[in-house]
Amino acid sequence: MATVRRFFVQSIARETVLSGDEYSHAKNVLRLQEGDEVVLLDGSGAEYDAVVSHVGKGEVLCSVVGQRPSDKECRANVRLLVGALKGDKTELVVQKATELGVSHICVFSSRFCSAYMNENKLQRLQKVAREAAKQCLRATVPAVEYMDFSAALASCRDYENKIFACEFAQKSETDLKKIAGSCALVVGSEGGFSQEEAEEARAAGFAWVSLGRRILRAETAAIALTSAVMFSLGEWQ
Ligand code: SAM
Repeated sequence: MATVRRFFVQSIARETVLSGDEYSHAKNVLRLQEGDEVVLLDGSGAEYDAVVSHVGKGEVLCSVVGQRPSDKECRANVRLLVGALKGDKTELVVQKATELGVSHICVFSSRFCSAYMNENKLQRLQKVAREAAKQCLRATVPAVEYMDFSAALASCRDYENKIFACEFAQKSETDLKKIAGSCALVVGSEGGFSQEEAEEARAAGFAWVSLGRRILRAETAAIALTSAVMFSLGEWQ
């Protein structure tokens, strides 16, 4: 059975227009024709069945014929904070974290971070998240933000579980197997954390956790911790 193509739009109307990147993808890559079925997503968590009614210059028009809630979203809010990584490693983390179901991704700068971020890179990360969300059939795209370490910690104030992957933790201060509810996860960049940063996280209510006896690459640590938490939250059933 052919996959029904999915498109994110700003808002849904009975006649919804695909424009910009979504238009280019629909018209030039997928070569959609009038009568083709599509699914439209407005980021609310709903899926809208629609039919292409007109393919024009610069826009594709879709008629909405039905609506249903998505069953693909994670039941708990999971926010991943990751230090900015070199090369395309941050993109890898954004892609995998989106597939795993996180609701927010915050890339942060910290003392031993050597990668930088700018508006173009941030937009690229948002695009990676959108493409990953479509590919894994999600109905929402995690928001990707960039901020400094202290602001990133403060952004997790309301989360029920605050977990800090600490490469120098002797033992874990919380049992990942027993967590339930919303989770904020922190993983450092290639350079790791300073003792002061780890203490700052603890003072902000984060529990240090060990990811085992081996030191993982930052991207491995981010994906592994997110996977473990999703498993504990029952998302793999
Ligand atoms: N430069 C650091 C060092 O030499 O110890 C290693 C940093 S590691 C590549 C990047 C991040 O992954 C760490 O800041 C931490 O968040 C996480 N991490 C990697 N291995 C870990 C482990 N065994 N336990 C807890 N966190 C780990």
